[in-house]
Amino acid sequence: MSIHERHRLSVVINARGTYTPLGVSRSSAGVAGAVAEALPEFFVMAELGDRASEAIAQVTGAQAGAVVHCTAAAITLAVAASMAGNDPRRIAMLPDAKDMHNRVVMPASHVVDYGQSNLQAVRLAGAQVALAGDETRCSIDDLDEELDGPDVTCLLLVSSRLVKGELIDLVQAVRAAHRRGVPAIIDGAAQFPRTADLLATGADLVLISGQKYLASPTAGLVAGTRTLVRAVRSQEEGIGRGMKPTKEAVIGVLAALEEWQAKDRAKWEADQAAKVNSFVRKANELPGVVAESVPDPAGLPLARVLLKVVGAARVATELEAGVPPIYVLTDQQDNDELLLELVPLDDDELTIILTRLAMILDR
Ligand SMILES: *Cc1c(COP(=O)(O)O)cnc(C)c1O
Repeated sequence: MSIHERHRLSVVINARGTYTPLGVSRSSAGVAGAVAEALPEFFVMAELGDRASEAIAQVTGAQAGAVVHCTAAAITLAVAASMAGNDPRRIAMLPDAKDMHNRVVMPASHVVDYGQSNLQAVRLAGAQVALAGDETRCSIDDLDEELDGPDVTCLLLVSSRLVKGELIDLVQAVRAAHRRGVPAIIDGAAQFPRTADLLATGADLVLISGQKYLASPTAGLVAGTRTLVRAVRSQEEGIGRGMKPTKEAVIGVLAALEEWQAKDRAKWEADQAAKVNSFVRKANELPGVVAESVPDPAGLPLARVLLKVVGAARVATELEAGVPPIYVLTDQQDNDELLLELVPLDDDELTIILTRLAMILDR
């Protein structure tokens, strides 16, 4: 009996990407094995934290690293770390931050909703958000103006498909924060393959979801400067208690990082591109469909399949209503466009998607 059958759960085909409501990603057998090996064992958790720091540093080029429960937690704890540092009194006070520098500057276009608004993840630490610019544009001058205000504790930037409007030059934004003497934190949750690029902006911390493109168990990876990473870890004696990583998550992250380093990156990228191109070729044979390969707007080294089809919303609804349900990206369905991310899918699943599309479009 499969795990889905045992618990009466739906088998789904996830062409929506690293999407939290669908279980995010598929871990390798090696990562799953490491997790299974960890569960019945005891560990000195601080040692596990130190090994994780070394591994994150080695893979990303950062000075240090930490694992917390997830990236939502990492946002809260990075803000807490910038307000309270390692001071036990302040750590115990949070989320009461009234006697601390507690304003977090953020471009208004970087307010995103990944299931909750990131504004709430910031406010959960006790901080207040000061938005710069508007939804369509935030210039470096706009940022500078907010950073010049009183009680600023850090600058929070987001690198994601979800950000709106004109892209900000992250290097210049980080510099603007540093000119005011405050750290810059980048949420790059779904950007694991680009962690080194995000650190190269000069950011003090980069936050990554392990369960997205690293395909580890759910975990928030924090990579950055020794001082601020240490302050993030210190929050575990405060508001970070409920956001701590499990032992199996840390072991899973270590295993996944090892596999990532051993991987032939160029071959992986070429294989992904070939998979997308082959799907595009077959999708273009379907009646009324124009398919093409489109690059990731945030610079991830992976392409998605764009399907232009009349009645895209109906097609998406019917894909989800079938057995197995098939989930695609529907943000642009009102423009008659659907996007598919193929990374975790195997040949059988791709064939099922094409067959179902043919059936739906034939009606
Ligand atoms: C997924 C995501 C998050 C939340 O990550 P979790 O690890 O699920 O908490 C935060 N920010 C962005 C941009 C995301 O894509």
